[in-house]
Amino acid sequence: MKAVYCDRHRLHSPGTVVEGGVARPSRDVPARLDALLRAVRRAGLAVLDAVDHGSAPLAAVHTGRYLDFLAASEGTEHGPLAPAIFETRPDAYRPDWSPIAKAGYHLRDQITPLGEGTWQAAYWAAQVALTAAALIRAGERRAYALCRPSGHHAGRDFGGGATYLNNAAIAARALATSLGRVSLIDIDVHHGNGTQDIFWEDPNVFFASLHRSPAGYYPHLTGFSDETGGQPAPGLTLNHPLAERTGDAAYLMAFTACLDAALAHRPAALVISLGFDALASDPARGLQLTADAFGTMGNRLGQLDLPVLLVQEGGYDLATLEQVATRFLSAFTGDG
Ligand SMILES: [Zn+2]
Repeated sequence: MKAVYCDRHRLHSPGTVVEGGVARPSRDVPARLDALLRAVRRAGLAVLDAVDHGSAPLAAVHTGRYLDFLAASEGTEHGPLAPAIFETRPDAYRPDWSPIAKAGYHLRDQITPLGEGTWQAAYWAAQVALTAAALIRAGERRAYALCRPSGHHAGRDFGGGATYLNNAAIAARALATSLGRVSLIDIDVHHGNGTQDIFWEDPNVFFASLHRSPAGYYPHLTGFSDETGGQPAPGLTLNHPLAERTGDAAYLMAFTACLDAALAHRPAALVISLGFDALASDPARGLQLTADAFGTMGNRLGQLDLPVLLVQEGGYDLATLEQVATRFLSAFTGDG
């Protein structure tokens, strides 16, 4: 099994962000990917460099004006760009808005700043996912995209939750374009609201998300169980919100339900939004999983008789990230 990596993720270093009105250091530090890369090597995976597939696959998921906004943030003198005001009226958009006005339109929170190097890192994280998807298209049965920044909170026209481009969605749409139906399961502790937004009306892509209930937890607005897909794709979105205290047993039951539903869609390939932040020790303080649960999920996914693409999302406990990722990957490849 091959992993795809690009060192340009280091260009993105958000520094201080604001959450709930309080300034704190961003948890999305480059050391996260160092830990995951060590896990990849311990699990015996080969590591490939990302190949540039251009911007067309990004535009197949995101709006042109959102991509232009992100790209325009590169190389300007403004310092980190984050919303100072939020525009909530969808029809209010003006192309002649200033960068800060556009930030207030396209970015949903203040933990998603655009700093020097953010666009480059986000662009290459998407290329990491596309390179891994190209391996699957070429016949590989398994691939792992080591993306940073993550992607699953980025929707068609917005970023948020420390994510800018939806790497997993970009890869899933690229796979769906050439292979037909695709299923995507998101096991990050936060609801994959961006991915849901992107595939809400797409009959080719089934999306399931297991996450801490959004009642009082990021992303707050979506991820409830009665959100099941738009009119052209009824039933093709499945949300499994879980209570704060949920541990391995109840989580794995929900995972099985999501996996069964994903397979019932009869996909040509399965994409996993792979977050490790449901771990009990994670500073996201979402759920109470142990490393055993990730070993079990890795084992289940590794035994599937269809191509599986892993796309990295969250996971912020630097003390345990290497260990839990090694556990998952070893089980996934059949060595653990
Ligand atoms: Zn997360």
